[in-house]
Amino acid sequence: MTVPLIDGFDRIHRDLRISVTDRCNFRCAYCMPEEGMQWQEREKLLTFEEIERVARLMVERYGITSIRLTGGEPTVRAHLPVLVGKLAALGVDLAMTTNGVTLPTLAADLKMAGLARVNISLDSLQAPRFRELTRRDDLERVLDGIEAAKTAGFDPVKINVVVMKGINDDEIVDFAHFGRDRDVVVRFIEFMPLDADEMWNNDRVMTQAEILAALDDEFDLEPVARTSAPATRWRHRDGRGEVGIVASVSDSFCHTCDRVRITADGQFRSCLFATEETDVRALLRDGSSDDVVAAALERTVAAKWEGHRINQVHFIRPRRSMSEIGG
Ligand code: SAM
Ligand code: SF4
Repeated sequence: MTVPLIDGFDRIHRDLRISVTDRCNFRCAYCMPEEGMQWQEREKLLTFEEIERVARLMVERYGITSIRLTGGEPTVRAHLPVLVGKLAALGVDLAMTTNGVTLPTLAADLKMAGLARVNISLDSLQAPRFRELTRRDDLERVLDGIEAAKTAGFDPVKINVVVMKGINDDEIVDFAHFGRDRDVVVRFIEFMPLDADEMWNNDRVMTQAEILAALDDEFDLEPVARTSAPATRWRHRDGRGEVGIVASVSDSFCHTCDRVRITADGQFRSCLFATEETDVRALLRDGSSDDVVAAALERTVAAKWEGHRINQVHFIRPRRSMSEIGG
């Protein structure tokens, strides 16, 4: 059941997330099963030309101003800098979320192609825990990737940390120090029920209030004025850096959400937690005009839910996990 539309497409939706692949070189426990992940067949993935067409349409008709590439792991998609060049030419603020492991070799090419910003996901600074969480022994390579991103000129480099109670919540202060020492912006993200193995439950969610309490014990922080971005931000009063918290579960920002999504296989989604999708790939491939594609996008946004309703009896987990939707 859907509830009434919260706002018109032309008014609030400015941010498009494009998943460029559902494949990944990691298997993070909170995102993907260790074994048995079924990858989309290659011919089902949108081509770069199809991605460019739908992105252009949304930029030109609906005033989308920012695009974020995601996945799966976006950097495993071959020739990614070519796509970056096509999308950068649309004049949008172009960003990417990555696990960082291939940045030592790719960061400079992506920057040169026109990528403006990068978020790197990192959930533990302890090698054994990192290995357990990602099922890969690549902490050093990710740390090198962070340095490579800075050297390539990405500024700021942001680090996304999914905080899970009893798993990595004892590293909140370490991560905040890491951000100050390495001159990167750390954003703590509440654990969402989009993991493939269904390890999520409410007791595992470290809420914004709890994260902030841990930080307050160690640092002198002051709030930064909120924008439409999902993170609530605090800066260190001594001027050395800031932290952000994305409280998707405990304090959902649905009422200000300006985001829409396209999956790697060309399904348009109005929400991370949507249980229905619109098959844009079919329209892109059956000769439909831009008007027909646009009408389908508008219908999808018009049916957007008022809020995600995690923690309510009516909440239904989406069929797809985070790696298939793109965070
Ligand atoms: N592979 C890239 C990466 O890891 O950054 C991009 C895709 S990943 C699905 C996008 C973001 O979603 C990452 O920051 C990741 O930490 C986050 N994420 C994945 N599963 C999550 C979950 N269950 N709850 C909260 N965030 C999650
Ligand atoms: Fe891959 Fe990113 Fe999911 Fe980890 S969070 S399994 S790196 S898609």
